[in-house]
Amino acid sequence: MKPFTVLAFFLVSLLVHGQSVRLVHGQSVRPTTESVAKHIQFLASDKMKGRGTGSKENKKAAAYIVKQFKKTGLSPLGTDGFLQPFTAKVRRIVVPDSIRSASNVIGFLDNGAPYTIVIGAHYDHLGEGRQGSLRDANAVGQIHNGADDNASGVAGLLELARYFAKNDVKEPYNFLFIAFGAEELGLVGSRYFVNNPTLPLDKINFMANMDMIGRYAPDRGVGIGGYGTSDAWPDIFKDVSGDNVKFFTDRSGSGGADHASFYAKKIPVLFFHTGGHDDYHKPTDDFEKIDLVSEVGILNIEIQLIENAMKLPKLNFTEVK
Ligand SMILES: [Zn+2]
Repeated sequence: MKPFTVLAFFLVSLLVHGQSVRLVHGQSVRPTTESVAKHIQFLASDKMKGRGTGSKENKKAAAYIVKQFKKTGLSPLGTDGFLQPFTAKVRRIVVPDSIRSASNVIGFLDNGAPYTIVIGAHYDHLGEGRQGSLRDANAVGQIHNGADDNASGVAGLLELARYFAKNDVKEPYNFLFIAFGAEELGLVGSRYFVNNPTLPLDKINFMANMDMIGRYAPDRGVGIGGYGTSDAWPDIFKDVSGDNVKFFTDRSGSGGADHASFYAKKIPVLFFHTGGHDDYHKPTDDFEKIDLVSEVGILNIEIQLIENAMKLPKLNFTEVK
């Protein structure tokens, strides 16, 4: 063999070996900055016009999530394939209220287990500023891209679905991945789901919600809510640490995001959130401002927590005082 061929063989065998090692440890299916970026760039592009409930672009976002769920190998568990359609009311001050069609997107990873872990994130946003609350009075007519709120959470949802579906491990729990619609109109999609569940609520172990996980601030850390919703959480959190991100817990199970709908049904919850910022609900919540490396770090913390929780029986629920 020519020296070049020898070198090429050596490099190829290194790559093949590296690949097999990564597969054994599930590394190759772990969240990556590349795929997190790809999902956020698509959902938060100007073409998607802010994914307002009832818009054509909102349906396009749902179709994108369906495509990813299919690619991952999840089975549909909506009421119309992967979709669970419902209607949501847009409340307006100067013009009459309007009724918009919306959908949750629901994919199931069936491990043949008695109980199921729900992972969720909402995919709707404020459209061009005519829906929902606005902090910037001049923003009507401008595209609210919602890269952090909540393309970042949907990217996390898709990455966790890929990880748990493709890691060659048959977990002792099933997973239900839900992208909620109409969150910005008042948690409409998640409330619709818990009142019209496509899987009995008493079969749900806990729910983990991601809403705005793209704007990590090193001095604050990522907040993880719901710590008080089961007395198993302290055990589960023990020894969990992030490579490049730090976290703090808070006990609350309610608050203005979709996990609150599950907490209201006495289901333990976790809520991942990197905190408010100046671009919140403004047209400037853009992809360029997302901290991709930290988002992947947050997802790896979430994976550790879920894997620790799966070593235990179904969690008990505790009310937070
Ligand atoms: Zn949100």
